[in-house]
Amino acid sequence: MMKEKVIVARCESYEKDVVEEAVNRIFHLAGIQSIHPEKVLFKPNMLSARYPEEGVTTHPAVLETSVRLCPCPQKVIGDSPANINKPIELYWERCGYKNASEITGIPLVKFSKSILIELYVSGKKIQVPVTDYVRDFKIFNIGKLKTHNLTVITSALKNLYGLIPGFHKSVLHSKFVSPFEFSDFLVSYYTAIRRYVFFNMVDAVISMEGDGPSAGNLRHTNYLIGGSDAVAVDMVCCYLIGVKPNDVPYLKIYKDLYGLPDVEVVGDTLIPVKNFIVQGRKSSRLFSTRVFKPFLHFFARYFSAIPVIDPAICRKCYACREVCPVKAISENLQFNSKRCINCLCCFEACPYKAIKVKKSFIARLFT
Ligand code: SF4
Ligand code: SF4
Repeated sequence: MMKEKVIVARCESYEKDVVEEAVNRIFHLAGIQSIHPEKVLFKPNMLSARYPEEGVTTHPAVLETSVRLCPCPQKVIGDSPANINKPIELYWERCGYKNASEITGIPLVKFSKSILIELYVSGKKIQVPVTDYVRDFKIFNIGKLKTHNLTVITSALKNLYGLIPGFHKSVLHSKFVSPFEFSDFLVSYYTAIRRYVFFNMVDAVISMEGDGPSAGNLRHTNYLIGGSDAVAVDMVCCYLIGVKPNDVPYLKIYKDLYGLPDVEVVGDTLIPVKNFIVQGRKSSRLFSTRVFKPFLHFFARYFSAIPVIDPAICRKCYACREVCPVKAISENLQFNSKRCINCLCCFEACPYKAIKVKKSFIARLFT
């Protein structure tokens, strides 16, 4: 099996010089100065309109430095959050990407047009819209290392889901509700989208443990991690936070289908972080085995993770209502449990951590 190179660069803060040295090191070891496409779309993790210090989104220093040092002649920066009712300019401003765009002179773009890509999920052919930028631009994917309530972790591979424009992400969540179904989808999606990806970088300088991807605690993990294969990069991210690839359903499914790549780690010595809190990994390992695969739909019926608003924290900003793909939240912020598809987009969108997730027994096993 061909070795997949993953480059690890120690990066202990978001100070300009520190990030620049780490990005330079990754670019040098990856040979980016000599091999690069003409046109590149830099795609950060812009999950929510949150400030950099909240650790929910790719830090703007990593984005800005990567954009500035990458020698491609034509560059743009873009991502599309699920909440289409909030102006994207607010995301750019809050996440620090407007500033990164101004410093580099590289424009921020909206994903207003799509092309359809075809993929097979559990033997069924589906069409998925992705930004039409992939037609002419190669993707420089810059994820953020966090835990995730559906996929155990999010780093490089899951960040590519953001190439699907806004609302379509929520619609897909409604089709692939449980973690296993969604991970199955992610693997098929990755095999279809990877030909558009030029490079993957993960901001693991400060990562999120616990209740990720938006309400967890922040931990200094002190690295930037890069490589051309998102699966290999995610495997190294797993190693950093003490997670086995088998504990991450999409990596387990990928392994069963294609085998995991033989990873060659170069650059700085990787020192794993101790006691990083990741929920649901043991059960994810068990239930994403081949034995359980035929029963996934059965388990999915009993999987529920119901959002509950804490009125003491809620500020009535209605971000949750706006993002809900099936209009399951009323004007007085009541959830319609019959309509709710458990996508947890409202949980991710709430800027005040006012939504808690009440899980069924099966959901507690998996997440
Ligand atoms: S209420 Fe929340 S979890 Fe339920 S469908 Fe709407 S956005 Fe998804
Ligand atoms: S739960 Fe969160 S997103 Fe929804 S209205 Fe309250 S503060 Fe806003």
